[in-house]
Amino acid sequence: MNGRHYDVAIIGGGIIGGSIAFELAKRRMKVVVLEKDRAVSQASSAAAGMLGAQSEFSSENPLVPMALKSRSMFPKLAEELKELTGIDIGYIEKGMLKVATTDEERMALKQQYEFWTKIGQPVQWLSPDELRQHEPNVNQSLLGVMYIPRDGQISAPHLSQAFVQASMIHGAEWYEFTEVIDIKREEDSYKLLTNQGIIRAEAVVAAAGAWTGLFLEKTGCPLPMFPVKGECLLVKTAKPLIQATIFAKNGCYIVPKKGNRLLIGATSTPNTFDKKVTVHGISSLLERAMQLVQGVGGAEWERTWAGIRPQTGDGLPYIGEHPHYRNMWIATGHYRNGILLSPITGILMADLIERRDHREIDLSPFSVKRHNGATCTT
Ligand SMILES: Cc1cc2nc3c(=O)[nH]c(=O)nc-3n(C[C@H](O)[C@H](O)[C@H](O)COP(=O)(O)OP(=O)(O)OC[C@H]3O[C@@H](n4cnc5c(N)ncnc54)[C@H](O)[C@@H]3O)c2cc1C
Repeated sequence: MNGRHYDVAIIGGGIIGGSIAFELAKRRMKVVVLEKDRAVSQASSAAAGMLGAQSEFSSENPLVPMALKSRSMFPKLAEELKELTGIDIGYIEKGMLKVATTDEERMALKQQYEFWTKIGQPVQWLSPDELRQHEPNVNQSLLGVMYIPRDGQISAPHLSQAFVQASMIHGAEWYEFTEVIDIKREEDSYKLLTNQGIIRAEAVVAAAGAWTGLFLEKTGCPLPMFPVKGECLLVKTAKPLIQATIFAKNGCYIVPKKGNRLLIGATSTPNTFDKKVTVHGISSLLERAMQLVQGVGGAEWERTWAGIRPQTGDGLPYIGEHPHYRNMWIATGHYRNGILLSPITGILMADLIERRDHREIDLSPFSVKRHNGATCTT
């Protein structure tokens, strides 16, 4: 690696770095991914894998077209990655039930239902009878239930690994335990100083998840970003309890996984990079999950974990060029939706790097320049 020259160097080997590497390598660019730890060992392997393009939004938002487009890419992507790498990303389209447990939540859920109905995306308000038919083990005294048939799910660790493998098959190089420490502009290219030596690249993509803001301080442009820790657990039941993902308005969700497993998530603790799993976090998730689905209490314990979501000041990701450095690109801040948004982010970023026009999706709300470079000092 030391001394080599690439078309594009990607800083951060999570799902966002992986998807961008895959797309660029497919376009025959010479790509390297530099990851300070193991590949996809942070947020991307901690995620629940929900493709919540509709469940995440209740009103107009610049992310809506991007989320819907990205969700629609999964069936074909699952086939492409399986064929290339042999990895099954576990794509399941059994939908999501979004549920309300209080009057306030019911009102908010009704609003969300009306928003999607107006836009013409499929949602269904379920009667108690319909709920019993769809999901007999879900608490039948819920105050409101909306079914979103197209919000499917995948296995986040499998999708993340598939991007790594597929990008390598197309020629991308990955270096683990390689931390990018500093970056300098040198005439028409960049020099990246890592703990394993120096590399050079024509273009650089900062895709370092929750750590991107810290890294960009080295370029005089600390973006308003903060980490949000999320804890999850996995349990196994004797027989399948639910078909669809159950997502309560109070933030607890239960995602049915292969082998009668239930992934239960997730807590939300801002401003910490500490990945300790707490008794309080797990017990609050379990309490809510047991209220939502009958039979969770008898499940067998498998494991717990935590991950750090990359959040931005205004809740929108950064997908664009550095305000002051040409060919330095930023792709981060996908917060709770980085798995859902990974396929489209790879394509958008590759188009930007190739300076292709992108008319289908308006990228201006995600521009790094949306703060007018006000936070940058150089
Ligand atoms: C509990 C939990 C549940 C979630 N559930 C969902 C879900 O159901 N659906 C969904 O769409 N999203 C979900 N998410 C969000 C999703 O996981 C993230 O948005 C996504 O993984 C972010 O990907 P990333 O590549 O930007 O970050 P990461 O996966 O964190 O990758 C960034 C990488 O950069 C590396 N890095 C940092 N600094 C440097 C450096 N200087 N040099 C080299 N490498 C560096 C890090 O080691 C890391 O591996 C969830 C997240 C959590 C925590």
